[in-house]
Amino acid sequence: MKLTSHTLNSSIEFIKGVGPQRADLLKKELGIHTFGDALLHFPFRYEDRTTFYKIKDAKDNGVSIQLKGTIFSKELIKGQRSKRIVCILKDSSGFIELVWFKGIQAINAIVQVHKEYVVNGRISVYGGKRTMAHPELELLKEYEAKPGGQFAPVYSSTEKLNNRNLDNRFRRNIVTDILQRLRPSDIPENLPSELLQKYRLVSRYEAIIGIHLPSSQRMMEAARRRIKYEELFYFQLHLAQNKAWRKINFKGHIFGQIGPYFNTFYSTKLPFELTNAQKRVIKEIRRDLKAGKQMNRLLQGDVGSGKTMVALISSLMALDNDFQACVMAPTEILASQHHIAFTEYIEGLGIEVAFLSGSVKGKKRKILLERLAAGEIHILVGTHALIEDPVIFNNLGLAIIDEQHRFGVKQRSKLWSKSKEFPPHILVMTATPIPRTLAMTVYGDLDISVIDELPPGRKPVTTLHKSETYRGKIMEFMREEIKLGRQIYVVYPLIEESETLDLQNLQNGYDRLLEFFPRPDYQISIVHGRMKPKDKDMEMQRFVRGETNIMVATTVIEVGVNVPNASVMIIENAERFGLSQLHQLRGRVGRGAAKSYCILATSFKLSKEAKERIATMVRTNDGFEIAEADMKLRGPGNIDGTQQSGLMDLALVNLAADRDILNAARIDALDLIADDPKLAKPEHRLIMRYSEKLGTRFKAWGKIS
Ligand code: ADP
Ligand code: MG
Repeated sequence: MKLTSHTLNSSIEFIKGVGPQRADLLKKELGIHTFGDALLHFPFRYEDRTTFYKIKDAKDNGVSIQLKGTIFSKELIKGQRSKRIVCILKDSSGFIELVWFKGIQAINAIVQVHKEYVVNGRISVYGGKRTMAHPELELLKEYEAKPGGQFAPVYSSTEKLNNRNLDNRFRRNIVTDILQRLRPSDIPENLPSELLQKYRLVSRYEAIIGIHLPSSQRMMEAARRRIKYEELFYFQLHLAQNKAWRKINFKGHIFGQIGPYFNTFYSTKLPFELTNAQKRVIKEIRRDLKAGKQMNRLLQGDVGSGKTMVALISSLMALDNDFQACVMAPTEILASQHHIAFTEYIEGLGIEVAFLSGSVKGKKRKILLERLAAGEIHILVGTHALIEDPVIFNNLGLAIIDEQHRFGVKQRSKLWSKSKEFPPHILVMTATPIPRTLAMTVYGDLDISVIDELPPGRKPVTTLHKSETYRGKIMEFMREEIKLGRQIYVVYPLIEESETLDLQNLQNGYDRLLEFFPRPDYQISIVHGRMKPKDKDMEMQRFVRGETNIMVATTVIEVGVNVPNASVMIIENAERFGLSQLHQLRGRVGRGAAKSYCILATSFKLSKEAKERIATMVRTNDGFEIAEADMKLRGPGNIDGTQQSGLMDLALVNLAADRDILNAARIDALDLIADDPKLAKPEHRLIMRYSEKLGTRFKAWGKIS
């Protein structure tokens, strides 16, 4: 949202009581420079001032309450170091102490004995006595004369601001002052009247007043609803415009034909029947690739849903049209697994697949780059080394990016420059199950394909929650599984802030396992981030080849690793992992024929949120359900892959709770753009102008895939 007008652009300094110094602080602490900025800092909650408590019922439960009574006495008490004012407030039910340690002179001047006041604050108990420290206080007469104001806004603040007396009350005064100077023309309407009528939205002007100084609960809710709708409408409009713009402007390579690579592979090499979901997604991709526009498609599919095969088949379509393809993965291990999978799948077809990462050096690298530029390599698989400058393709037609949330926006856009004439088609694959609602919003300018079906024969992983006391039983269970020929992951958390401690923890766990599973009867691999990539890779490969029974690791194995014989995943300190991480980890098992287990080991005492996460994991295997739960627990801003989405600019919206408004706004925006892609019609001038005003806000990520 943006607020500008002559009045709204005035410096905050000109508000009574602010002045240059406090204005400076407001700028630094909250980014409030102008009247308009102040109005865009919405309250995060409201205190209900319609109800008065009886003094005898007032409790020290941390909630701010409102009392009404007469000041019975007032006393200025001078201690050795400090002064304080103590008043006794009385109503028909009893007495309570009010106390001030700061701003004593001002309070002394305001408070008069025997007068009636409305008092707001929190109760605390000192030495068995209830007091209210630093309450807000207003003469009952003034309170009653004031229109509205029964829902007092509460603004977020900082310690520095509070220390300089720029507290909530002061903020309220600033806003009140601004609102009094405001005219409706300062906040012109930016939604067409059909939409206002359709949803019975209040005007923009009313909404701004109503969100700061509502005179009723209803007014406050109406204001919030209006502002949410407006934000989502313009956000979705922007995405829709971008997408339309790209469709018009970005021509793409045309993969007109299905040729021998695809046909031979499909009829003779395909190792399994594709799932219906895979078939559908491949059709969607095929349609894009021959349309003459650049494809920008997000492929979502839960772990193990078979995205690799879709990537391979898409690559064959490029090859059949004399283009090269590349696959980029976020880690060396993952990239090399793709390389191995691709190489095996296409054996005998005369396709050259090469691997490139930071570890490919010297002469080997030089030759590879030469062959790539000459077009002798058909598919290049690798890490982000692919997007470095010296990597030149002969004719790149399709770029596939796996596990995209690991890549920054910049890296992705760099791929675009690797193709001549037109940008390559882009297929972004992710197993991070972004909730549908969020995907629609965040990737609203991408096309989305979903693999919503796992290959047949997959049994859901049985997930159990066990606390420390079960350690012995877990070990026995592991032994039995190993006897059956299975392999086991044991995963430890590792976060940077406590890396040393975490590594110690991992080492201890490893030592304990060595006692239980002694060599030479058992073999244990260990992998963590402090190891050299080469050693890490070697340990990993030992496990992949089945030479070790147990893999002890930090979360480095999280993404993409495929060891079908591994059937047990033990996650230590599971309470320290986020939901989506737990789900990713669990996805490492349940890939083979054997019944698989995931054991979440936690300490005995858990926070409410941790309990909820663990319970969700035990309850369901469905990545989307987990993503939704995650969003509810953490809020949308924290979901992987959405950090740079611009969502944080939505001041009020909570995507989990405001789904209905989001859907409505999205449909309205899409309809509008379908009818008038350039917003050129006179009746859309209002919308056009405001969206131009917002302009740069989402630009940064509008151009990238
Ligand atoms: P992800 O989507 O997590 O990348 P993969 O592509 O690694 O999943 O596939 C997981 C496993 O499922 C692989 O071993 C793969 O060979 C197998 N697979 C993929 N598609 C099918 C299918 N249609 N039928 C049977 N197995 C399949
Ligand atoms: Mg994968």
